[in-house]
Amino acid sequence: MKILFATPECAPYVKTGGLGDVSAALPATLAALGHDVHILMPAYKGMKVSGEIGDGVELPPWGPWPAAQLVPVKIPNGVTLLLLACPSLYQRPGGPYVDASGRDYHDNALRFGLLSWVAAQIGTVHSPLRGWTADVVHANDWPCGLSMLYLAQSRMVLPHEATAAGIVTIHNLAFQGVFPMGSADLLGVPHHWRGMDGVEFWGQLSMLKAGIQFADAITTVSPTYAREIQTPAHGIGFDGILRARSSRLHGILNGIDTKLWDPRADELLPFHFGPDNLQGKAQCKAALQARMGLPADPKAMVFAVVSRLTPQKGIDLVLGALPRLVASGAQFVVLGQGEPGLQQALKDAAQKHPKQVAVQLGFDESLAHLIEAGADVFLMPSRFEPCGLNQMYSQAYGTPPIVGPVGGLLDSVTDASEDAQHGTGFVMRGVDPAGLDDAIARATRLWREPQRWRRIQANGMARHFGWEDSALQYVEVYERALMETR
Ligand code: ADP
Repeated sequence: MKILFATPECAPYVKTGGLGDVSAALPATLAALGHDVHILMPAYKGMKVSGEIGDGVELPPWGPWPAAQLVPVKIPNGVTLLLLACPSLYQRPGGPYVDASGRDYHDNALRFGLLSWVAAQIGTVHSPLRGWTADVVHANDWPCGLSMLYLAQSRMVLPHEATAAGIVTIHNLAFQGVFPMGSADLLGVPHHWRGMDGVEFWGQLSMLKAGIQFADAITTVSPTYAREIQTPAHGIGFDGILRARSSRLHGILNGIDTKLWDPRADELLPFHFGPDNLQGKAQCKAALQARMGLPADPKAMVFAVVSRLTPQKGIDLVLGALPRLVASGAQFVVLGQGEPGLQQALKDAAQKHPKQVAVQLGFDESLAHLIEAGADVFLMPSRFEPCGLNQMYSQAYGTPPIVGPVGGLLDSVTDASEDAQHGTGFVMRGVDPAGLDDAIARATRLWREPQRWRRIQANGMARHFGWEDSALQYVEVYERALMETR
């Protein structure tokens, strides 16, 4: 199959969260299965891309949109990266979605409207890539959602021509790509699709809704999250349309890149280890303590967080539990960035307890690896979690996670108190202070029994979190969608 994987971010070039990791690993796994995969993403400022660069293709401008070019780059793993070059839209200081001060770019509708339009074009007879038309356009999250509408439109206008099947993946329903309905003109949304059966969401235009409404198949990143988002509690206004389209909605658990995240060979770690020899893990713990300016004490239990700092991730709950963790003699390490109030509260805690609490604000890939390896317990008390990757990394690194009882966390962590034989971590019984205290107490008790703790570590390290199974499930979804559309 010719698969176009359209995404606003892809590691290692640009990454703000789990989608960046998925965009790197899933296309590579699909290519290894023999498919012809192109990744489409914007050419952002400062992107360091190496590979064999092909000739750029001019795109026909549409309406008032600026001129743009597609530049193919052959990257490792047999995948082609198609860079959407449009300097006036994408070459800016700041992140993919927000400017340097953290505010949404004022013209995100146009920036991601263009990305979506180009994605759809590549799935039609008008593909700008000579000789390459996608069989499947796989759109990720709201920034690519409109591509599903453009494909549906093209199918209506050109009923006798082959048009790609459209698949949209929801990585986080909380990001809905909502813009004033006035942008519908700019985006070329036909009038008959501007209502409730189209892109309208509480009087505004939602790019994610366009994706859900017009895709031939919808996937999300874990089976539990696929069920949760069909309920009012987790559907954030989308539960109704997701229930209506439930026969086309599939939950496929993300994998992790087991080449990048392997404690036996991880290039970002100072020491290596495996399930049979955890000495390197103890050395990583000492290295982590040194790096964070904490006393190098093997007997201090190290709890850790690597996360966007938002209420979704239960960081407020962690702050609430901190005084008790500190009183118990534990150490606490955080790497993250996000809401200013949470950042400040964490900084204050580090200042108050410099020997036990260490906080690094910002994004730091190599420290993230050292934390996964050097910590004893990983904290992820999320209120909702579509899939979550850190709980998988931590299990692979012998760092049992404490997780909220939601989404992909439930699908990837086995509670060690409930199932002593197979347990890999601790599932909170409720996402509240009592639930977190209880899980911390259970973890602490078992950590003090080295033999039982080693069993939990070994169970987690033996888990298979690779992408192969999930990639095969995506192929099934693609095939079924193709069969239904052709
Ligand atoms: P989400 O996508 O909701 O942010 P995930 O757990 O699915 O959460 O994925 C987060 C990814 O981003 C992981 O690879 C994690 O290690 C990484 N990450 C998050 N914050 C940071 C940070 N401050 N520094 C380095 N890596 C981070």
